[in-house]
Amino acid sequence: MDCVFCMIRDGKIPTRKVYEDDKMLAFYDIEPAAPVHIVMIPKEHIASANELNADNAGIVAHIFSKVPEIAKSVGLDGGYRVVNNCGADGGQTVFHIHFHLLGGKTLGKMA
Ligand code: AMP
Ligand code: ZN
Repeated sequence: MDCVFCMIRDGKIPTRKVYEDDKMLAFYDIEPAAPVHIVMIPKEHIASANELNADNAGIVAHIFSKVPEIAKSVGLDGGYRVVNNCGADGGQTVFHIHFHLLGGKTLGKMA
């Protein structure tokens, strides 16, 4: 499959990993939009938030349950923002669901 994040999951594209377990992976964004910019993905390929349902949405809770630990490990002591871009109008460019973890400065208003 031609999915950048599946290739990262499979070790075919190198990244700076910050967290990994059997269900998810977190790594530094290649084009940071903030001083600290982490991308958190499920290992399961789900194209976007628009493909979530009662059967697969447990992964979202799992990812969020790890946010405090990941944020602490990258030094986001003053707070942070978690963002999901969904679909063309949402600005999504990689169609493997992911959550951006942004911080390292006082962030501006959204959108
Ligand atoms: P989005 O625009 O919400 O779909 O976010 C996709 C993010 O993935 C962007 O912030 C990209 O900079 C990031 N990205 C794309 N390819 C890579 C890569 N090989 N390693 C790390 N981050 C990547
Ligand atoms: Zn994928």
